[in-house]
Amino acid sequence: MIYLDHAAGTPVSRKVFEAMQPYFLADFFNPSAAYLPAKKVAADYEVAKGEIAHAIGAKAADLVITAGATEANNLAFTALSSGGEILYLETEHDSVRNVAKFLGGKPIRALKSGLIDLDDLRAKISEKTEMISVATVNNELGTIQPLSEIAQIIKLEKIRRMKNGEKRQLLLHSDASQALNLLDLNVARTGVDLLTLNAAKVYGPKGVGALYVSHDALLQPINRGGGQENGLRSGTENVPGVIGFAAAVTESKKHLNGNRKKYSEWKKAFLAELGTENVKIINKKRALDNFVVVSFPGIDAERLIYLLEEQEVYVATGAACAASKGQKSHTLRAIGLTDAEINGSLRITLGETNDLEQIKRAASIIKNAVLTEMERLKNA
Ligand code: PLP
Repeated sequence: MIYLDHAAGTPVSRKVFEAMQPYFLADFFNPSAAYLPAKKVAADYEVAKGEIAHAIGAKAADLVITAGATEANNLAFTALSSGGEILYLETEHDSVRNVAKFLGGKPIRALKSGLIDLDDLRAKISEKTEMISVATVNNELGTIQPLSEIAQIIKLEKIRRMKNGEKRQLLLHSDASQALNLLDLNVARTGVDLLTLNAAKVYGPKGVGALYVSHDALLQPINRGGGQENGLRSGTENVPGVIGFAAAVTESKKHLNGNRKKYSEWKKAFLAELGTENVKIINKKRALDNFVVVSFPGIDAERLIYLLEEQEVYVATGAACAASKGQKSHTLRAIGLTDAEINGSLRITLGETNDLEQIKRAASIIKNAVLTEMERLKNA
């Protein structure tokens, strides 16, 4: 098998799995219980939260642990107060886009490169804008957004409001689900107020995420109950999940530079093997090195996926979630691709299950599958 869909999901790494195991077995206690072994589990949970927070330059108390990134994104938008407005980048993941739309949010345009159109952002900020949501890294293209520049625009608007005596808050939220693997995130440096993290994309367990919350953001609970996670997300803590998340984050942080170099070499080798005929490279500018998005205009990528599946090569067409609903990718449309380019697009995301030899072999299998499809179409 050659797995090339690491943006959809990563396996739990051996180290992460081993770190989690004791908390399913001997250390199963509910951290809220009063006896000593449970208190030890509660302490381990806090340490793990601290490790996750440390990876983004924050403290355990700044994090709300959630059941994945969708929940963290939903929690982030509870910061909106009455009469406040949301701006969101039009290429956001559905877990941001659908919440923002539900709350009456307005989209900010993306450029052809996939980067945010900062002029459009400047033009759309009004005195009612309270939240701006832009993913750190786009999940279909791997595009790294200029968060610091966005934070700078926000700062200027805040100064303007202060001078005019306007009291409305203005928060920057970023979904960093795809970013932890290869970017050195730091909340103070980037100036975000709310940051979504996702264990499932960084060789940690699925269904575990976190929201970083700055002191400026006032959230509402997404559920009510026993008052865990500062009362914002009640429910018995997922101790093994959080221990696994911390191990995963710590591990990824250690290998950040090495992995960037490795994926950059693999990406080059992949594209060299794929050649330049019949293929358009979609994500050229400011993208993470493990994202290769290509299109074979005129070819149906859905059919291509089945041909590849027969040879145990697993890739995605656009976003896995959009593709499974039979919808055309809103992201690829937003960056101005034609229907033929969208229909022929593959998202190939490299990761720790791969090696260089696999990458080259996959490129050659994809190239041959495209040629087979073209031949079939010619004779049809
Ligand atoms: N945000 C982004 C950018 C993602 O890539 C994903 C995963 O597909 C999510 C949010 C949703 O994550 P989860 O399924 O863990 O809720």
